[in-house]
Amino acid sequence: MLIMENNKITNINFEIPSDVLDEIQINIQNIIESFDIPNDNKLDVIKKINFMYTQTKQMSVTDPLTKLFNRRHFDIEFEREYKRAKRYQNDLSIAIIDIDYFKKINDTYGHSCGDYVLKEIAYLMNKNFRQTDTLFRYGGEEFVVVLTETPKETAHIPMERLRKLVENHVFKFHNEEIKVTISVGINSKTDYESALYMFDDADKALYEAKKSGRNRIETAK
Ligand code: GH3
Ligand code: MG
Ligand code: MG
Repeated sequence: MLIMENNKITNINFEIPSDVLDEIQINIQNIIESFDIPNDNKLDVIKKINFMYTQTKQMSVTDPLTKLFNRRHFDIEFEREYKRAKRYQNDLSIAIIDIDYFKKINDTYGHSCGDYVLKEIAYLMNKNFRQTDTLFRYGGEEFVVVLTETPKETAHIPMERLRKLVENHVFKFHNEEIKVTISVGINSKTDYESALYMFDDADKALYEAKKSGRNRIETAK
């Protein structure tokens, strides 16, 4: 629910999916159109609603800490990309990134340092990937990259570049230098019953990367 106070949104329920927001916006606009108010005022109200709508829609798909897309948006987008790839026989790869020994970073330097590391990783991801790749914060210290039009033969290239970028990056928090590495699981197979299975095999590859020493990339066979 949106609450307006002094012309500002003060309370937003993040559970509103963006397609529902589209519907809400159209409904509100229709109601306002039907009111007997001067056209100038009407335009003003519609402009305000459009602004609020855009802001709320943005928030409903964004992770507030890293500003990457959130988990809910991932579920919707990945399913769409998976179906598109299957239907048109396009290449598609997914990569799951997990920060190594992240609990130790939190325990040693505190949670605000952990949050700093998460933000910095998001910054490096934005720097590393193409505009056509979509970046998500999946959960706590897990990120997902959906690489459209990318086959198995090339998916590891940007992931390896990111792995190195993180390994060589100077993470500095309150004058402490912290070493951070990531492990990555990639899957480029699309012959599954649903997108979920494609994700699961990327997750299994990530598990293999952890098991075989971390700071490395594994691709689903
Ligand atoms: P591994 O190398 O096996 O991945 O070990 P790990 O310590 O990274 O993995 P584990 O799953 O044991 O720990 C994940 C930690 O992530 C636990 C939790 O304290 C931390 N975490 C999750 N979400 C957040 C967050 O939003 N901020 C911070 N600072 N820490 C978080
Ligand atoms: Mg994890
Ligand atoms: Mg981890």
